[in-house]
Amino acid sequence: MLDRFVSAARPRRSEGSFLRICALILLGALLHPGEALAAPGPRPSRVLLVVGTDRYLPFVIALEGSFRDELARQRERPVDVFAEFMGGPSFTGPEQDSRFANYIAERYQGNEPDVVVSIGQPALRLLLEKRATLFPHAELLAIAVDSSTLRAAAAEGATAGIPLDITFAPTIEFALAMRPRTRRVALVQGTSEVDLAFARAARRELDAMPRDLEVEVLGSLPIEDVERRVARLSDDTIVLYLTILRDGAGRAMYSVDAARRIAAASRVPVYGAFETYVGTGIVGGVVTSPDLHGREAARAVLRLLRGEQPRAIGILPPSAQRFVADARQLRRWGIDERSLPPGSDVRFGTPSTWELYRWRIIAAMAVIALQAMLIVILMAERRRRRRAESAEQRGAARLQLIADTLPALIAYVERNERFAFNSEAFRVWFGVAPEDAHGRTLRSVIGEDAYGIVKEHVDRALAGEHVRFSTTLKTVDGETREVDAIHVPDFDASGAVSGFCVLVLDVTEQKRSERRTRELQGELAHSSRVSMVGALSSALAHELNQPLTAIMTNAQAAQRFIARDPSDLTDVREILADIIRDDDRAASVIRRMRSFLRKGDAESEILAVNDLVRNVMLFVRNDAERRGVRLHLVFGDALPSVKGDRIQLQQVVLNLFSNAADAMASIPEDERLLSIETARGEGGSAVVTVRDRGTGIVGESMATIFEPFHTTKESGLGLGLSITRSIVQAHGGRVEATNNTDRGASFQVILPGVEAAE
Ligand code: ADP
Repeated sequence: MLDRFVSAARPRRSEGSFLRICALILLGALLHPGEALAAPGPRPSRVLLVVGTDRYLPFVIALEGSFRDELARQRERPVDVFAEFMGGPSFTGPEQDSRFANYIAERYQGNEPDVVVSIGQPALRLLLEKRATLFPHAELLAIAVDSSTLRAAAAEGATAGIPLDITFAPTIEFALAMRPRTRRVALVQGTSEVDLAFARAARRELDAMPRDLEVEVLGSLPIEDVERRVARLSDDTIVLYLTILRDGAGRAMYSVDAARRIAAASRVPVYGAFETYVGTGIVGGVVTSPDLHGREAARAVLRLLRGEQPRAIGILPPSAQRFVADARQLRRWGIDERSLPPGSDVRFGTPSTWELYRWRIIAAMAVIALQAMLIVILMAERRRRRRAESAEQRGAARLQLIADTLPALIAYVERNERFAFNSEAFRVWFGVAPEDAHGRTLRSVIGEDAYGIVKEHVDRALAGEHVRFSTTLKTVDGETREVDAIHVPDFDASGAVSGFCVLVLDVTEQKRSERRTRELQGELAHSSRVSMVGALSSALAHELNQPLTAIMTNAQAAQRFIARDPSDLTDVREILADIIRDDDRAASVIRRMRSFLRKGDAESEILAVNDLVRNVMLFVRNDAERRGVRLHLVFGDALPSVKGDRIQLQQVVLNLFSNAADAMASIPEDERLLSIETARGEGGSAVVTVRDRGTGIVGESMATIFEPFHTTKESGLGLGLSITRSIVQAHGGRVEATNNTDRGASFQVILPGVEAAE
């Protein structure tokens, strides 16, 4: 393997060189071990281009370039491309051909190409002639020769090829179509073998054209003469420039250079059938692109390298042709670009505005695009804002509707005490429409008086406090309304108060009905007390009436018996016995009454003392208010429950409250403080203390106040405390009365707790 590689790479090296190469390879292996381990790839295929012309022909340069490019693009196999040039017209003739053949044979000996590509007719001819000695194992592909030559060559062994038909008729046809008044065609041609071959072909084609055209041949003249001739051509003539590889004076030339001179000299349009002429000053022509031809050739070579038989490839269709024109010449000769066949390739057009001002246009477009973008963004933003605004407006409208519907005064007051929101109620209360109140100061809308009342609360709300207060406000109609108001501060993101919400509820009606209810309750309580006392006294009266009447009757009878002379003491004795009996009866009536109270039909239940007192307070609150008495309630905790009759025990508290309130009737109203306190007493008892700041219990009354009918009041019955004591005692408790050290009296009811009672 190594052997083949080395011999392939350097076939003619001496043994010393061979060793040097081995050393180099080893060094390379050390430096690039990965690469050295990899087996050398397949030997690159070798392709030799044998070009029948000079190396610098533009057509050949373009063709070779695209050929190499196409092979370089493929990844199928590595291909080495070599090119040998037979030279221009100076190197023609059998002698030259032999030298060239020897030269390349020598050059590629032992390194023969796999495929030889002949470019042009001279190269094809040479390769066919020397086939036996020159690269006998290489496959041959013939390109850049016309179809008929190729067909003829196939018979000689060049079985694979791509024709490049240099045809002139299509060019002439287009030229005529562009200048319909053309009558004559001047053929400009050279004198070399190639020139003459083209000239013959052109002539043939022109003769075959259906249109009757006069043909003038400008050949076998020195180029200067040709220039002079074309400068004098008549308007109905066009020039068809073929090739001048050698002019009439025998000078070798580049055909493209000659084309340039002819086009410059001519006073009529010049056409040509080679793409490389476009740009020299000719108008254009129907051409085969060397680029296209080169690529097609490369693809055919790949097929041969893959092992396809040349015969199987055969003669491929000729490479496509198209009309190529020079835009500057079209303008020069007044030819409308639009009259060209579709698919024409127009070159050298005036640089378009785009080409001239590309960057400026791009910049302008960018600016415009940016602006457009900005406009779109702004419009989207505006739409979004509008939508948001309309959503906000809808939200605000909804809020206003809700606020207006509520039976309350609702507002938002900003830090500067100006309204930012007002409900419809402002119209009714202050005679200001909500929209008019908006932005005005609180003071100017609600008036001095109301402002004086709420100012303190406004300040508190602006200081961040939730404010609740009750007050009275005068409406615009002069009506005084009782209100409950709430101020809720509004904090901004930084935590500062930015304003506050106001909610004012008109509670006039509510308060009024509450008062009425309390009054009714008070009246009811009073009347029930009165009726109870009334019932009690009438019962007593009824019970006592009989023994008292009997006592009275007996006493009167005794008086009468004593007044008699002599006194009938026996009768008197009897009468006195009756009186004692009647008195006993009376006493037993009272005893019965007491025992009734003691036993009663008491409903015995477990009672929470605090609840009991609380219920009585609900009951008496109104009464206290009416009497100008302030209540101070202290409910102790951990109170034991008591067992007993709810109504009777409530009656006890009620009596003590009533007496305390009575005792304070004569002192100034603001001193009338009545405190009721519950507490846990000794031995698990519950203690209710009723304390007043009244007159206190006077003198020896302290001992007698609990006696029935003891009263110091004008309309008193003197039964309250007596009944109270009876009830409390019936519940196993006791009542104690003391005068306070400062003023007033205190009554303590001590009831056994449930555990203690059990
Ligand atoms: P009445 O209230 O009908 O007089 P009571 O038996 O309830 O009957 O009261 C008896 C008397 O006890 C009262 O007339 C009053 O002189 C005295 N008294 C009761 N409570 C107090 C009190 N809290 N302060 C001063 N004296 C009181």
